[in-house]
Amino acid sequence: MGAKRPMAEANKISQLLRVLPDDERFPVDVEKVALELSRVRYSDDPIVSINTFDIDGVEGLLGRHPTDRKWKIGYNHRIQSPGRIRFTLAHEFGHYILHREMKSEFRCSLRDMHEWDQRDIEAEADVFASYLLMPLDDYRNQVAGLLPSIEMLRHCGNRYGVSLMAAALKWTEIATKRAVVVAARDGFVLWARSNNAAFRSRVYLPAKKLTIPVPEESILNQVSVRSGPVTAKQRANLWFEKEPGDIELVEHALAIGGDYPYTLGLLLLPDATPLWELPEDDLLIPVDQALRWRK
Ligand SMILES: [Zn+2]
Repeated sequence: MGAKRPMAEANKISQLLRVLPDDERFPVDVEKVALELSRVRYSDDPIVSINTFDIDGVEGLLGRHPTDRKWKIGYNHRIQSPGRIRFTLAHEFGHYILHREMKSEFRCSLRDMHEWDQRDIEAEADVFASYLLMPLDDYRNQVAGLLPSIEMLRHCGNRYGVSLMAAALKWTEIATKRAVVVAARDGFVLWARSNNAAFRSRVYLPAKKLTIPVPEESILNQVSVRSGPVTAKQRANLWFEKEPGDIELVEHALAIGGDYPYTLGLLLLPDATPLWELPEDDLLIPVDQALRWRK
């Protein structure tokens, strides 16, 4: 099935929501959309309630009434962050839209890592959620003409009511210049995602396969929660050894506290050497694109 259907279904709903005035459209009111849309469009088996629950290790669930054709959505009452609640609800709504013929109950635990191109229903529900909450056309408008920065991502995170990390990951889908979003902790890369332009030029960090230390000189090693966002120029080959020695990249970094502390990094590179000038076997390195949407 891949990511196409989740995207298409989320986009259809976004089209309907376009009639709303801007301040009502974002952040998307997932509860309202799930209840109203399912009542109108799927009146045979609508979503009738959205509540919290208390089940250890379960983040969100979608369940059908044992005898009635009615569905309910729930999220763990321990989740505090509004962005994470919103994403969890959108994920469960995604199961309802995409998968409810398959099962009568979905119990979703917090999955830390996603393979972007993984073909399972959990990844599909995440893709649906990300497109429902952050439609690409609107995201493009928000960042048009802006230089990429942590502030830009914060603006989008606030507009869509999602975490900075989710906003940063979504941004890699529309960024045209080479860009890599990195999450680091204790001097190591937790995960990284390259946009297409970066990936095509072999600029990526396969953090799932290899243990990748953050380069000593990188400002990702130097920011603290108190310092706020910091920007610096670096030699690109500090991070990506195949980049020519005279190429520079711009690092933006922000340390994030709370119960999931990490440092968010944006690595921005100039346009690459055209592909046909690269040796061919270098292009056959396997993909390793990890995603973490909810945090
Ligand atoms: Zn799920």
